[in-house]
Order: sequence, then C-alpha cells, then structure tokens
Amino acid sequence: MKFSAMGFAPEILAAIETSGYVKMTPVQEQTMVEARRGRDLWVNAQTGTGKTAAFALPMLQQMIDVPITVIAGHVRCLILTPTRELAEQLLQTVGHYAQFLDFKIEAVFGGVKLSGQANKVKKGVDILVATPGRLSELVISKQVNLSAVETIVLDEADRMLDMGFIAAAESIIAQTAENRQIMLFSATTTAAMNELAHKMLKNHCEVRVSKANATAETVEHVMYPVSEEQKMDLFLELLEQHNWYQILVFTSTKRQADQLLKRLKEVQIPSAICHGDKSQGTRRRALADFKSAKIQVLIATEVAARGLDIEGLDYVLNYNLPYLPEDYVHRIGRTGRAGKSGHAISFVCPEETRALQRIERVIGGEIKRIYQRGYDLPGRDVIKSTPLHKNTNSVKSTKKSVNTKSKNSKSKNAKRKTGKKSIASRAGGKKNRRAQKKNR
Ligand code: AMP
Repeated sequence: MKFSAMGFAPEILAAIETSGYVKMTPVQEQTMVEARRGRDLWVNAQTGTGKTAAFALPMLQQMIDVPITVIAGHVRCLILTPTRELAEQLLQTVGHYAQFLDFKIEAVFGGVKLSGQANKVKKGVDILVATPGRLSELVISKQVNLSAVETIVLDEADRMLDMGFIAAAESIIAQTAENRQIMLFSATTTAAMNELAHKMLKNHCEVRVSKANATAETVEHVMYPVSEEQKMDLFLELLEQHNWYQILVFTSTKRQADQLLKRLKEVQIPSAICHGDKSQGTRRRALADFKSAKIQVLIATEVAARGLDIEGLDYVLNYNLPYLPEDYVHRIGRTGRAGKSGHAISFVCPEETRALQRIERVIGGEIKRIYQRGYDLPGRDVIKSTPLHKNTNSVKSTKKSVNTKSKNSKSKNAKRKTGKKSIASRAGGKKNRRAQKKNR
C-alpha cells in the first residue's frame, strides 16, 4: 500500500519522500489505519520493521487535524522508551518525519541534569520522548503536567517490563486523561506482556506482523558449534575469511566484551565497545563511528544495544547465546531490517545447547550448523539437532528463512574487500591456534 492512500498531509508525504520510502511496510499497513481511528493498539513488531513511522505518522496527522496550541508545561503526545539511546534516536527519527511541520518535539532522559531538561518542557511540548524514570521525576516535581496528553506510545514495552520500568510507566499513564489513546509496541508476546496489554489498554486492537516471537523473515540464521575457549580464534578467522564489515557482536558480559575488544585492538581491527560501564559520550561516539563505517566491529552487551537502529546492518554475531530466546529476537532485530536481508550468526558451545533449543523453538526452525575446520568439538560434545523442532510443523515452512545464503554473502563480501593485512597473521596464525588446541 502506498502512503498516499492514508490521506496524510502534504508535509508528511514530503517527509516520507525525503526518507525514500516507496510503500508501507507490513506493520505500517496494519497499524496506521487503526491508529488513525484513535484505537488503543497492541503491536507485536520488532525494531527494523518500520514501527516508528507506524506510530509517528498517525500521531503527526492527528495533531494537524486538531490544531491546538499547547499550554506551558503540558504535553500533547508522549512516547515512552526504555533507554536514553533509544530516546535520542526516536527524537531524531520523529523529528525527521516532522521536518516540514511546526511542532515542538523534545526528549528527556536520565544521566543528565534535571534542570536542563525541565527547561525543555517549560513552554509546552507537542511530542515528548521520555524514559519513564526521568519523566516521573519531572512529573513529581511538577515541572511537567500530563493531563492534556492525547496519545501515548510505549515503545519496546517488553523491554520496559524486563528492566522494571513498568511501574513508573503505569504511574505516568495514571496522570493522563481517561480518553487518551495508548499504543503498545513490543517485539515479543510473553504472558507478562499479554497481562500488561489487557491491563493498560481499552477495547484494543492487536496487530501481529509476523508469527508471534518470530524473527524477521529476511534474516538468515547460522550457527558455528565451537568450544567457549576457541570462540575468539574462530571470530578472528571468520572475520578474515568472510571479510565481515560493520558487524555487531553481542557478548553476555561486560568482561567478555572488554576481553574481545582488547584482542581485536591487538590485531588492529577497528572496533569499539558499547556497554553499561561506558559513559554516554563514549557510547554515542562508538555508535556514530560504527554507523559511519569508521569501525568494523561494534561489541555490545544486551542492555547497551537495545533497540538501536543501525541502518543497513548485514551481520549480527551472538558471541554467546542469550539465555532468553526473546533476547535473541531482540538482538537480531538489528539486521534484516525493512526488507533488507541480514545474517544472524551464533557461536554455540556445548554448554549453550539448552539456550539454542529454546531459541529454535521460538523461531520455529532449526538453525543451520556450519562446521569450521579446526574447531571440531569432541564427539560427546557435538551439538546435536534438537528433537524439539522435529515435532513442530513449522520447520518446513520456515526453512527458507533459516537457511544460509553463503553464496550471496560471499559475493557481497568480495565487494567489500578492504585489502587489509591478514588478520590471522596478525593474530599469530593458524599454527599458533593449532598449538593452543593441542595444549587444551
Ligand atoms: P524502525 O523499525 O522504525 O526502527 O525502522 C527501521 C528502518 O526501516 C529505518 O531505517 C527506517 O528508516 C526504515 N523504514 C521505515 N519505514 C520504511 C518504509 N516504508 N520503507 C522503507 N524503509 C522504511
């Protein structure tokens, strides 16, 4: 469906044109009509599906349809999001969609002085993007009044739930008028999310863009069985072999992230890190460098990387599998966005077999195993296909989306050859690694 079918104002259509969007994504098609009707919504969509425009464009149109001058300290539309990185990103994206409109859009989040943020909302704001904790502070100190809020979006509501922000979000919602519209967006559909949706929303409409908890259709999933000790060597070898560029690597802990960064720096791979111990400025710089392709590898832990929109990201590597399958869905939400193909690569050691089984159950198919020569696991440790998915009907139908596209990725990588010095030689070479293997 084309955007023009939605009856958007010329200023919105012009912004869509500058974004280069030709037609709506599935989540946009299904969300916008109901959003325009003013209905409460629960939308199950991951980052990368075009969900921001799905709520932002109807929100902007509503403000055009009913022009109101916002009173000092008041807010017309509210977007709650779990992290400050997401808040900054949303401010930018929504600002882009509103570039030809005269609306005041601001963002407030923790980690910076409250007084400066209070100033932003002093004269009233048309759209306020906020993290729940910081907004609660502003509400309690009576620097923001939410009684005139017409629309509330809870972006990444499942994350807010996981991070313990829902109580703050609920008390914020309690400050708004009864007749406001609430749109709840979550990547996963857990029982807790279901409960929350039914508690918060009134006569709501549910939008499911793909199968519940499924990963983006365009993502190719592969896994390398490998022992935990050999993961670093395997990563360096594969980086060289496939010439992966702009790869986002998830580790489970900050320590692992630091160790990996140290090793990558030793072998002169341009890389950066994004985790909770790093300052806001360091994280922002790391992300900017990654987006502008100044660095090849961005290492991140779950919390720090949540929901980041990194355009054109081809590769996401799970250096460790997340414990919760929902986190796998979130992690790989950064690749295969808005119709582009992406690659979700996982390193799986025998201890992670359980986590793998849970993930395969959620994505509804077996992840293709790739056995890298020299990294074989001893017979008893070989990660077997899980019997779980043999019982599911969905394996065949989803097979396409979980197969590897190695041919394509090779040709793509060939184009990206940077002519850099051999990584393996810088890393000490295969000989070294074989020696290490013998010593284990
Ligand atoms: P989001 O899920 O909102 O983070 O959007 C993910 C990516 O999809 C962003 O880079 C958007 O610019 C892009 N996008 C959003 N809507 C469309 C569309 N209709 N056509 C093409 N790309 C889109």
